[in-house]
Amino acid sequence: MFLADYHVHSDVSQDSRASMYEMVEAEAKMGMEQICFTNHCDMCDWHTYQFNPSCLTRVSETMEKYNAMLAEHPILPIDVRLGLELGEPLFDTERAQAIAASPELDMVMGSLHILQDYGDLWNVKFTSPEHCRQIFHDYMDELIKMAEIDYFDLMAHIGYGRRYMWQQGWDEKLSLEGYGDKIEHLLRLLIDNGRGIEINCSGIRDGCGPFPDPEIIKLYKDMGGEIITVGSDAHKAGDAAKCIREGYEIIKSCGFEYVSTFKKRKCEFVKI
Ligand SMILES: [Zn+2]
Ligand SMILES: [Zn+2]
Repeated sequence: MFLADYHVHSDVSQDSRASMYEMVEAEAKMGMEQICFTNHCDMCDWHTYQFNPSCLTRVSETMEKYNAMLAEHPILPIDVRLGLELGEPLFDTERAQAIAASPELDMVMGSLHILQDYGDLWNVKFTSPEHCRQIFHDYMDELIKMAEIDYFDLMAHIGYGRRYMWQQGWDEKLSLEGYGDKIEHLLRLLIDNGRGIEINCSGIRDGCGPFPDPEIIKLYKDMGGEIITVGSDAHKAGDAAKCIREGYEIIKSCGFEYVSTFKKRKCEFVKI
């Protein structure tokens, strides 16, 4: 079966120390045929909550490291695509749009980690189930705003805040029961605007389930959504392609017969 990991970080991201080649080798060993690097390009700085100037050089850094890798290893064991995890595009939508238009990129993922009133989700101290639910509601409102911009291809890890809630002992998740109207609204916008979603397998790896939950993936499919990728969100070689196979099984069980790949922002469907 065709297997591609479409959410891979390397040391172009500030939270990874793995070289691109280390990741490529590890992904190849795990049986991936294709991967897409999606290094962080955050419009908002994680610490200062101000505009993050390093986002302006992220694409050129990606190209430098990619070209350096090719100079050393002219033949790569797998097909490597270059994408970007574009964080907080609403923070500076003009610059975000300009970065997303970089002709070197194969794919751009829209991503949300920082909420106006709470800061970065990994840093929030969750105090009660109600607190978690309030944050999920605000998160959905923000994702809906983000879905209205049209310069990314996929929306990253919908509902991933569960990981941090779960780590702090709160078993809350973005479910249709609790947030159905907002989820449906979000998926409708994405589908109508020709954008897709990913199944992010990092939560399977951590024990709290994929992002989004399979019931949301199934709803996306039932509503006519076709564009989906599977990603490990690995930041180190040891996590490369972890739980990707489970991710493929889940999307198949939700009715998908094709996975999406991207070349120069053009979506291609591959049978799975
Ligand atoms: Zn992310
Ligand atoms: Zn990521």
